[in-house]
Amino acid sequence: MKRREFFEKTLLGGAVVRAGSSIPAAAQDADSRPAEMFREGERVIERPMAGRPHAGKVLAAIQPHSDDIPLFAGGTVAKLVSEGYSGCLVRMTNDEKAGRGATTGEVVLNNERDNDAVAKALGLARVFNFNYRNHRMDNESRQEIRGRLIHLFRLLQVDTVICYDPWGHYEENPDHYVTAQVVESACWMAGSTRDYVEHLEAGLKPHAVREKYYFARGPQLVNRIVDISGSIDRKVDANRVNVTQGPAGENGARLRERLASQKQRLPILGNDDETANRQYIKHIVLDVDSIGLRGVPSDRELGQRYGLEWAEAFHYVGPAATRLDQFIAKNAVPL
Ligand SMILES: [Zn+2]
Repeated sequence: MKRREFFEKTLLGGAVVRAGSSIPAAAQDADSRPAEMFREGERVIERPMAGRPHAGKVLAAIQPHSDDIPLFAGGTVAKLVSEGYSGCLVRMTNDEKAGRGATTGEVVLNNERDNDAVAKALGLARVFNFNYRNHRMDNESRQEIRGRLIHLFRLLQVDTVICYDPWGHYEENPDHYVTAQVVESACWMAGSTRDYVEHLEAGLKPHAVREKYYFARGPQLVNRIVDISGSIDRKVDANRVNVTQGPAGENGARLRERLASQKQRLPILGNDDETANRQYIKHIVLDVDSIGLRGVPSDRELGQRYGLEWAEAFHYVGPAATRLDQFIAKNAVPL
């Protein structure tokens, strides 16, 4: 089985099909249940929320490269921001190996500009570029990266992160898995009173990150499906501005031009370049050729399995529930 077919079967067949009560029994054949990717009963469908229930909360969208968050979590970021989160976009590398530019310096600058535009498209007010060298994050000190993230989490009082899954399988890019692993450890360590105590001397307070949305390009333990039907066009916006690297950007216009040179056209791409770019992102990158272009199943097909128009999948980690208060209330007696 090809690697991408395996991913598709494990992501859609394993994590989602096993969990979905609405999935026809015939679809739940043994071949589509390859691994224990999902714990029964843990799946949550996160739907749009009215008003601004997250007002006052802070979101950090953390990506190694300028196209990661737009491709894999752009709909969820836009949804959470529209529901009240304020947020920042943290980019870990300088993207020097990816995309257009006559020199390395030009590539770095082009990607930095794209990344700023991504933040704007998603409503993330601040951008932090850590600028580690692209494709080389496994050669960097994880202690240093962790320390920088802990400082940021405490400074901004970050409540929630969205990032690659530190436990996602078969991730081949060292920038992805190093970022994910360091974010995971920084989230809880930022709440410690004994780590990086000089931060406390400078006036910062210990502050653990309590909610995490993790996405992956390979099999992962999926326990949350986010309905992004209301934010799919914002996701398209965020991918549209990523013109230097990645499968989105201006590739719709390029495809339209190539087809025209062969005396063909795809009606779905419309009659002008801008329509072609946006339609290509929405219907080709995020749907028809999602596996080929992003390495993950279609957002539309994922949504369909849950009765949604468009969806993104995550492993979500929230605050641990405690039963102690209830236990005390029920069982404590006067001295
Ligand atoms: Zn990446």
